[in-house]
Amino acid sequence: MDSISLYNPKILKHYKSNSQRARVLSENWCSSEMYCPSCLNEHIIHFPNNEKVKDFFCMNCRNEFQLKSSSKKFGKRVVDGEFNTLMKFLNKNKAPNFLLMHYSNDDWYIKNLFLVPKFFISPSIIEKRNPLKESARRRGWIGCNIIIEGIPDEGKINIIKNEKVINKKTVNKKWKKMFFLNDKNPYTRGWTTDVLKCIEDLSKREFTLKDIYKFKGYLKELHPKNEHIEAKIRQQLQILRDNNILKFKSRGNYSLKHFD
Ligand SMILES: [Zn+2]
Repeated sequence: MDSISLYNPKILKHYKSNSQRARVLSENWCSSEMYCPSCLNEHIIHFPNNEKVKDFFCMNCRNEFQLKSSSKKFGKRVVDGEFNTLMKFLNKNKAPNFLLMHYSNDDWYIKNLFLVPKFFISPSIIEKRNPLKESARRRGWIGCNIIIEGIPDEGKINIIKNEKVINKKTVNKKWKKMFFLNDKNPYTRGWTTDVLKCIEDLSKREFTLKDIYKFKGYLKELHPKNEHIEAKIRQQLQILRDNNILKFKSRGNYSLKHFD
């Protein structure tokens, strides 16, 4: 990655509206500057315009990426495309990786760019929106939001932070750290990422089973059909331990490995 500037006078001249400019400039930047965070291939390739759900892919490892760019910092949620289309992709375990780019349209610099790996996309973080009104051109169309604030920090991998480019190897290491989630189905791994989010929210070096049980209500809301929330929590703690994210200190006492 050589540049974090989207600036391109030809594109700026050709497009009049700032939203079109931003779309083309950010796509253009991704084609020339963005590498594959999974295999560190130098480039990712732009798909033709009509591709649903995905915008870029890696020729080497076949990972797919959807780019979202905004002149505002990403907040609690981000608007995505059609709900059923994304759910269909998700159920086939084919959700794309999301690249979320925050740029400035004063200087056209990328301020922040982070990656949400596909294995962090689960039904818990997809919110169905209300159908469009009668008067709308696409009436009845149902969109969705991705709930960014529901994703644990481990699933938001910084690529550029406050205009600073993060080392590629650090990015790749973070990808690999959580890659064990990839071969699980979206519902199963959703449990793991939801419990991880609760652990992070405690902001404690060490915690107890009791601490995590306090999130029972929150987890029940995300998984309303499950009647055995406590057992499910314990199972996720074991999965996190088996994959080196957690350490079991003593009975009912845990610590997050990256605090060590
Ligand atoms: Zn790749």
